[in-house]
Amino acid sequence: MVGPASIGGSRILLRKLREIMETGAEPQQRLDRLVSMVASTMVADVCSIYLTRGGLHELFATQGLSPSAVHNTRLKLGEGLVGLVAEAAQPLNLADAQHHERFAFKPETGEEPFNSFLGVPIVRSERTFGVLVVQNQVSRLYGEDEVEALQTIAMVLAEMVASGAFGDLTGLAEVEAVPSRPELLSGRSFSDGICIGTAVLHEPHAPLGRVIADDPVKEEERLNTALSHVRRALEEMLEGDPGRISGVSREVLETFLMLANDPSWEAKLRQGVRAGLSADAAVERVRGEHRAKFNATRDQYLKERLHDLEDLDNRLLRALAGVEAGAAQALPDDAILIARELGPAELLDYGARLKGVALEEGANTAHAAIVARALAIPMVGSLHGLLSRVEAGDRIVIDGEHGEARLRPEAAVVHSYKQRIDLRSARVEEFARLRNIPPVTQDGERVTLLLNAGLALDVHHLDEAGAEGIGLFRTEFQFMVSETLPRLESQTMLYRDVLDAAGLRPVTFRTLDLGGDKVLPYVAAEREENPALGWRAVRIGLDRPALLRYQLRALISAAASRRLRIMFPLVTTVSEFDAARALVDRELEWCRKNGRTQPSLVEVGVMVEAPALAFSIPDLKGRADFISIGTNDLMQYFFAADRGNARVSERYDILSAPALRLLKRIRDDADVAGLQVSICGEAAGRPLEAMAFIALGFRRLSMPASGIGPVKRLILSMEVHAVERALSRLMSRNRPSIRDELREFAVAEGYAL
Ligand code: PEP
Ligand code: MG
Repeated sequence: MVGPASIGGSRILLRKLREIMETGAEPQQRLDRLVSMVASTMVADVCSIYLTRGGLHELFATQGLSPSAVHNTRLKLGEGLVGLVAEAAQPLNLADAQHHERFAFKPETGEEPFNSFLGVPIVRSERTFGVLVVQNQVSRLYGEDEVEALQTIAMVLAEMVASGAFGDLTGLAEVEAVPSRPELLSGRSFSDGICIGTAVLHEPHAPLGRVIADDPVKEEERLNTALSHVRRALEEMLEGDPGRISGVSREVLETFLMLANDPSWEAKLRQGVRAGLSADAAVERVRGEHRAKFNATRDQYLKERLHDLEDLDNRLLRALAGVEAGAAQALPDDAILIARELGPAELLDYGARLKGVALEEGANTAHAAIVARALAIPMVGSLHGLLSRVEAGDRIVIDGEHGEARLRPEAAVVHSYKQRIDLRSARVEEFARLRNIPPVTQDGERVTLLLNAGLALDVHHLDEAGAEGIGLFRTEFQFMVSETLPRLESQTMLYRDVLDAAGLRPVTFRTLDLGGDKVLPYVAAEREENPALGWRAVRIGLDRPALLRYQLRALISAAASRRLRIMFPLVTTVSEFDAARALVDRELEWCRKNGRTQPSLVEVGVMVEAPALAFSIPDLKGRADFISIGTNDLMQYFFAADRGNARVSERYDILSAPALRLLKRIRDDADVAGLQVSICGEAAGRPLEAMAFIALGFRRLSMPASGIGPVKRLILSMEVHAVERALSRLMSRNRPSIRDELREFAVAEGYAL
């Protein structure tokens, strides 16, 4: 056996391996020699190589099992102990293999007498090519050094398979070292749009190159240089602009730095180099271990630490190869970014240089999605298996309409997507032509179309889409995409920029709507059983007024000598509104006392999102200046159905009698109370819904930029009185949804839906 002197043992193994590779023998012969060398060096009775091809684990070479089994013994994916090793992508060490529940008996191999079994996966870049196995008759567990030695061999083997060293072996070309087939991955759309481009990895793999070291002393020097480079870079980042990193980012960097200085990590790397691996291969091996442990553990804390360690391994690999990562790398013109997760600030760093984004995960993408939408970049997430299936340079289609990514698509598929892209841009052109035409219905009713925005980036949509103002400016977006709590000055600056860009067009700023699903990474939030019904929005603002007062101060000072419209989210009772309005008065007073220029006009409104407030409209008379209905939340609470859970949110329809009756009632009450009323939920941006809202009497609709063109086109074609009649007829029927009937009516009337 390799024994305790593992470094010497591994070195011998690697030297012999190298000799085999340099013989220039036929691929099959090389594999045969390799198994016999491993068996004799490790004093194993059996050494076998299984490679995966055609969806089966096939025995490619063996020392110790029956030679006739080679290329004849095939196990289904996941079958037997070999299948288990491949599936788990981690070593399996057994003293009594025959009695393991997954043992699959293959009589042609003659493996009955062997009790102990050690299998390690042949993996590279998260792809498993096969399994390397040693077996012995005596029943015993293999030592840690032996497991490591076999893993080192498996790693070298993986590199050889990937580099095509066995490429001419009959049929081995089928082993998919580098994916080349077209694939369709389905996930979730985070930002609409379609694009075709070239895959760029946010964290590119460093090419491994040599695996076995020519000169171990030199390799150790390379390792030292790379280690100090990584540590220095982390230190510099920590010492850098404190405004950019703090809170969680600082914590992450500090953890990285601590791990980077951990002697056991360094010792492991050094051990690999001293055992004869190149510095890159030594890091790769350690990375493989971290990955295997990550996959095996369920402990969330441990998972995060292992993820950090793997990130560090990747940094080191890139330092060795001199490869840049993140937004610093050079990008092709049609770059589509591939990442596991992406923070909003990282996406902003890439900016408009990207054509699209595809993410493996996406639990935390909500904030990056906000940025992607503002930049009008299609983004798709929750694409399981993406990172293991895509290579840098692959052609890729991002379909933000359906939440799909197509890897290496066939020419016909690309063609059909190109047509869809053309069609979309034709529609965009058509909407652009409508930009300066006022939205007036066929029977002369004028409607005001406003924009929903949240970032400075959104404001240019005002001109592009031809909106008459901003009906909802979601101020929390600035807080969500920033890495730290935005200071008073940066809040003021944003609001001033928005007002400048809007010119004479009105802007309605909504105060911070945090909590629920809108959590800030740098503010520790208490876990709540029902966050949507919890401590959020104005409830936080009233209980902890400092943040809200700060924001009001920023708004007031940004609007000096101008008109200022403010509204509060998720107000449930009239007294909550009064309390919030009192804060505005207090800040105006502060402004006056301090000799600051006041806004020329201040209007304070409220969002109608809680059903209780929807039934309190008459009481708002004389207190509020306007109301705006947030149908996203109002419908969530009205139907008791989570707006973020498609299973229930799509179960109920706003185009149904009860929901439309509620909206009509709010509209009528607002009229009586003399309150200006608008609708600013997503529904207002959908033509069919907008048609119904207009028929209910609403004349102010605020929506995402993408909705303005289609809604305007509909308005120009519709006749309000005809829709009113159809709507009252349909609402008298007892149906869970009148959507289909309403659409049929619109189509029959020739409206542009
Ligand atoms: C709403 O609830 O309808 C709304 C416009 O606010 P948000 O989507 O930001 O919660
Ligand atoms: Mg809301």
